[in-house]
Formats: sequence, C-alpha cells, structure tokens
Amino acid sequence: MDEIANGVEKKIKVNRLVHADGVTFKTCATCQGSGQMRKVVNTMLGQMVSSSTCSTCSGSGQIIDKRPSGVDSSGLVSKEDIISIKVPAGVSDGMQLSMSGRGNEAPGGGVSGDLLILIEEKEDKKLKRDGNNLIYDLHISFIDAALGTSEEVPSIGGKVRIKIEPGTQSGKILRLRGKGIKDINGYGTGDQLIYVNVWTPKKLTSEEKAKLESLRSSANFIPNPTSDDKGFFERMKEYFS
Ligand SMILES: [Zn+2]
Repeated sequence: MDEIANGVEKKIKVNRLVHADGVTFKTCATCQGSGQMRKVVNTMLGQMVSSSTCSTCSGSGQIIDKRPSGVDSSGLVSKEDIISIKVPAGVSDGMQLSMSGRGNEAPGGGVSGDLLILIEEKEDKKLKRDGNNLIYDLHISFIDAALGTSEEVPSIGGKVRIKIEPGTQSGKILRLRGKGIKDINGYGTGDQLIYVNVWTPKKLTSEEKAKLESLRSSANFIPNPTSDDKGFFERMKEYFS
C-alpha cells in the first residue's frame, strides 16, 4: 500500500527474445527486399495487380544468411534481462503499464515489441482501499469513548496519533485529509477514513457488573440522540457523495 501511495521503482526479471550474436542477414530474393509480393493476373478485363506480404521473409525484406548452431530460424535467442520500471503512485489492480521497445526484438531487425506490465495489488491487512481513500477500522472501549483518549493508527508512511473526543459515538468517521492515495491522473490525493467502533465488553466480572449496574439508571447513560448524532445512512451519504 505504501508503494501504491508513493509510487515505486522495481527491478523485474524478463525473458525476452533478442538477436543472437553471429547471425547475418541478406536481402530476400523472393521479394527483392520490398517485403511485398506483386501478383499479376490476366483477366478478360485486362491485367489485375494484387499485392500481399512476402511469405519468405514475412514482410521484413531480409532473410537470415548465416546463423550459429543453437539459434532457431528466426535468428533470435531468449535472454534474461533485469529491467527497472517506475511504477507511478495511484496504480490499481488490473492496470497495465507499457514500456515501448522493451519487448521481444523483431526477426530480421524490425521495430522491437513493447513490454507490458500488469499490476497486481497486494491487499493490506489493516488499510482497506476504496478508490483513492483508505479505510481503517478502529475499536475503542466505551470507557475511552466516554472519557476521550488518543490512539495510534497505521497510516501511509508510519503511524499517526489521533484524538478521540469525550462523548464519541460508535460509527463516527474521522478523516485524515490527504493521507490516502495520490490520484494516478493527478487529481489530488485521497483521505484516510477512520471508522470508530465502540467495543462493548462480552464478559464481565461480578465486580464490574456491580459498578455498571450502579450507573444504569444515571440520566447520562440513557441514549438521547440529537440531530448532530447522524445515523449510518446519513454518514454514508456525507462521505461518499
Ligand atoms: Zn521477401
């Protein structure tokens, strides 16, 4: 995720076809080097001329004159290359990068093919990606939610300490502006969104039960949502519209 967010330079191993040493070429005798075959047919309406790719040289106009043993009839051998590629920030799964002329060399010395690099995104266990935004699920105790605290959360480029205000509701979304992924087309940078989940204890000792029981009827513990306490659908509308 760090590499996607910031861009990265990678070295990759590629097996590509290159011209073998010691191979020499000569002009194709079939087409005299034009790569094209002209065919003249006599018909009732006169002569018709059609042209097609030369089948002897496949259109390159050149054929192999001499080749060392072990080199196939195309004059090419497979060679391992280490290629350095610059992956721009903001790439996503299924995207294809293209390096012009870094593919296989053409038989007979034409234009080399391109190297196509398919991007596969490795999922981050903590930071989920939603477009250019990153989403982090934070769980806090209801004591921390009520009293307020500060929490360290993972983020691009290292951990960030965030403040949890006293009286934070479960489902609140905190936004770290510009802490997401840079847009591949240069349209700004996404945000990191932190979903606050308030953790309710599943087991209590009898002592803990007694303490909480004494607070049960306290007016402050009775839910009393106001218009500021947005429900789930309103929050979604706010963050994804
Ligand atoms: Zn030819």
